[in-house]
Amino acid sequence: MPFKDPLALLKFRCTGCGNCCTGTTVYITPEDVHRIADGIGQSPRDFIRFFYDKFLTIAKSDTFALRFGKRRAVMGLKWKSGHCTFLGKDNMCTIYEHRPVTCRQHPFNVTLSETGAVERVSLSRIVKCLYELDGKISKRHLSQLLNWNDKQTVAFEKTIKEWNKTDPKGQTRNAFLKFIGVLPSSKPPRAARVPRKTSGHKSVAPPSVPTDGSGDFG
Ligand code: SF4
Ligand code: SF4
Repeated sequence: MPFKDPLALLKFRCTGCGNCCTGTTVYITPEDVHRIADGIGQSPRDFIRFFYDKFLTIAKSDTFALRFGKRRAVMGLKWKSGHCTFLGKDNMCTIYEHRPVTCRQHPFNVTLSETGAVERVSLSRIVKCLYELDGKISKRHLSQLLNWNDKQTVAFEKTIKEWNKTDPKGQTRNAFLKFIGVLPSSKPPRAARVPRKTSGHKSVAPPSVPTDGSGDFG
């Protein structure tokens, strides 16, 4: 139901129903992978899943679509019993501090003004969101989050374009993980047109979450 006040959803509070972590494909970026792997001390192989076009409809124009030879896939979080592998028994996220940027922005679609101010907030309809309207989200935090998400997305889309131009014979999942620098690489990817650095990566800290409850979404 649309709200008359375009900023009514700044009073959003997540009730932790877990619907958005169940049956959904959670896209992740290399920055997310580094942050999660560093934060929980696990190999990216333990939590990354490639969702192929047999499982998911992936348009050729999808900017997150990766080429693996003749197939297309997107990089996301593994599932366990039909939900995200990191969803706890109590429906809480077990990697909350390190969670992907898309989880942080969910369930909001945000319209910014020309000056970058938050103008309108609406809800994603991917799943039924059982929220309450007794919370408090700061516009500043929301726009910081959007900027952070945009930066990661733009960087990853550029990397994906480079990957998709590499020799299809070498387009394996392991080669991709090495290409994006989340697994150590012994040799450069075949016919990669742009050389990539794979060492010395440091995971990037997300924008700080305010302590006044305004970070309690997604
Ligand atoms: S990482 Fe956490 S918030 Fe994101 S889908 Fe998984 S359990 Fe949910
Ligand atoms: S964001 Fe919505 S769907 Fe996701 S856990 Fe919170 S209330 Fe449920």
